[in-house]
Order: sequence, then structure tokens, then C-alpha cells
Amino acid sequence: MSNITAEYIWIDGTSPTPQLRSKTKVLKKEEILSMGTSSMGADSLAIWGFDGSSTNQAEGASSDCVLNPVFICPDPIRGGDNILVLCEVLNPDMTPHSTNTRKETELISKKYENHEGLFGIEQEYTMLDPVTKQPIGFPEEGFPEPQGPYYCSVGASWIFGREMAEEHMALCLDAGLAISGINAEVMPGQWEFQIGPVSALEVSDHLWIARWLLFRIGELHGIHPSLDPKPVPGDWNGAGAHTNFSTKAMRDKYQPIIDGCEALAEKHDLHISNYGDGNERRLTGLHETQSIDKFSYGASDRGASIRIPWQVEKDQKGYLEDRRPSANMDPYTVTKLLLETICSKEPQ
Ligand code: ADP
Ligand code: MN
Ligand code: MN
Ligand code: MN
Repeated sequence: MSNITAEYIWIDGTSPTPQLRSKTKVLKKEEILSMGTSSMGADSLAIWGFDGSSTNQAEGASSDCVLNPVFICPDPIRGGDNILVLCEVLNPDMTPHSTNTRKETELISKKYENHEGLFGIEQEYTMLDPVTKQPIGFPEEGFPEPQGPYYCSVGASWIFGREMAEEHMALCLDAGLAISGINAEVMPGQWEFQIGPVSALEVSDHLWIARWLLFRIGELHGIHPSLDPKPVPGDWNGAGAHTNFSTKAMRDKYQPIIDGCEALAEKHDLHISNYGDGNERRLTGLHETQSIDKFSYGASDRGASIRIPWQVEKDQKGYLEDRRPSANMDPYTVTKLLLETICSKEPQ
């Protein structure tokens, strides 16, 4: 009887920014096959448990938490029939744990289903040396040459970590994730990958798995990928998670995009307080950002809170780009807020 492994992955309770955790379950291949692999969904996999007192999710005296599989995909690292299993965390009575932000997104997605919301998230990150905590490409003393040549560049003087970024993209593709591209960023050692456009739950589930793969592949490269919004203070770009959003109405006409921007204007503080910890170090009004306490939108404006891409203005339809979320944001929370703020004002 042969075995497969299922890597159960979940989001912990570390404050202020939750971290990924995972552990491995060996399953009999026949058990999986008897469920029918072609139609195998997350709900056909067994729930599991973990010690919540070691993940900031429970007190020692009653520390059991439940892992409920919500999304599965092929495990591109172990290969074969092995799988990755993204889980939501439940209390032992099967109610959502307080750190479970997915449950609400599921409910809100259902509520606004007929708006057909689509999301594309641009995940920026910085490759750090795990010992010195400096971005790779930074010299031991001082700084590299100022920003300018690095973004989307080619050549060994400007590119650091391409091998890992490429390998990460290949793993995401092998896992069947909706990855839509990668690029080198403005600061040396900084990269971006994009997921989408897909629904709120899909973009969020895929992004969490893609982050897990990024950290996992970093182990093999001796690189710690940081999601800190401003890994190097001063005249260096921060790391964001621009969230591109459209409803069916926006994909048909321009006015719903403007209406969406106006709806976001009214809820700026609510959004900012949920867009990632430490974001005030990044949203300074410099380095292609708007100040954290100001709201603005504009076509082609990379200094605005919300940018309407030039192609969208030209076509008079498409999507908007919320440039405020930081790299360490929780996609369940960001997509939920965008659906709530925009769809509650959109006729239908
Ligand atoms: P830029 O770096 O110029 O801001 P990117 O090409 O990195 O833009 O990212 C654009 C993102 O927009 C992609 O993730 C893509 O999936 C997403 N996107 C494209 N069309 C739509 C749409 N109609 N609705 C939502 N997202 C979209
Ligand atoms: Mn981008
Ligand atoms: Mn970018
Ligand atoms: Mn962008």
C-alpha cells in the first residue's frame, strides 16, 4: 500500500502580522483514490488538529485548535500525488476561530456574488539574507547605487535573486495557482508576483499558498522573503500588495469605476486600519505612494491612493487599482472590505 503526503497549511495568531505554519500528514493513497482524485475537493479531506498554545491561538490549559481543509492543490515541491492543503482554523466546537478571517470573506462573497467581483493582487516582497537581515544585493557596508536601474532590469549588477523568483513562479504554475506574472522591483533584492484576476476567495487562497511556497523555496536558497512594508528606511521603495478590483459593471462601463473610487473615499480610515501593520512607514507620499492620511484617485497616477490604469481610461471600462495595501496584508480582509465598500453602493 503506497502513501502520499498532505501538507496542512494554516495562518497563525501572531500579532500584529500572522505567520504561516504547516505540518505533514501521511495518507494511504487508496484512501485518496477511493474519494475519486478527479473530483477530490478540500471537503473530502479529514479535519486535523494542532497545539494552539504554540501559535498564539490558544492558552495552554485548553490548547486544541481544529484545521479544516478549504483548498487543495498539487504539492509542486514533493511532486507526485502529494498535495498542499490550505486550512481555516476552527475552535473545537467547530465555530470559526477568532484568527479565522476567511469565514467572513466567504459570507460577503456570497452576499455580493451577482456583482461578479474579480481581484488581481500584486505581491511585492524583499529577499533578505537570513543572517544579516539585509536585502540581497546590499553590500556589507553602506548602500548599493541609488534606485533607478533595478526595476524590470537585466544584468548581474542590478538583478539579485532571479533564480529564486523564477523557481517560485514555476512552482506556482505546477500547483495550478492563478499566477499571472513576475517582475524585479525598484529596490535591489525586491520582487513582485501577481495572482489573478479571480474571485475574492480564489485570489486569497492562492496568494496564501503562493506565500507559503515562497518561504519554503527560500529555505533552499538561503533567502528569507520579507513582507515588511518598508524593509529599508530612507530613500528606498517599500513593498506593497496593490489590489486590482473590478465588478461586472466596471468591466462594462467607466462610471461604476468612478463610483467605486468615491465609495472608497468615504471609508479611507476603515480600509487603512486593515491594510497591514507598519504601512505608515511605507505610505509617506514619496516613492510612488500617497500619504497614509490622504485619499485621492486618478488616471495613471502612481502617487494616488487609487490608480485608474491608462488603458482603462482609454477603453472607458476595466478595473481600479487600490495601491494602499501593504505587502504583509491579509488578502481575506482586503478583498472583503473592497466588496463591502464598493458593492454595497453599486446598483444591482
Ligand atoms: P502594475 O504593475 O502596472 O500596477 P501589474 O501588471 O503588476 O500592474 O498588475 C495588474 C493586475 O491587474 C494583475 O494582477 C491582473 O490580474 C489584474 N487585473 C487585470 N484585469 C483585471 C480586472 N478586470 N479586474 C481585476 N483585476 C484585474
Ligand atoms: Mn505590478
Ligand atoms: Mn510593483
Ligand atoms: Mn501596481
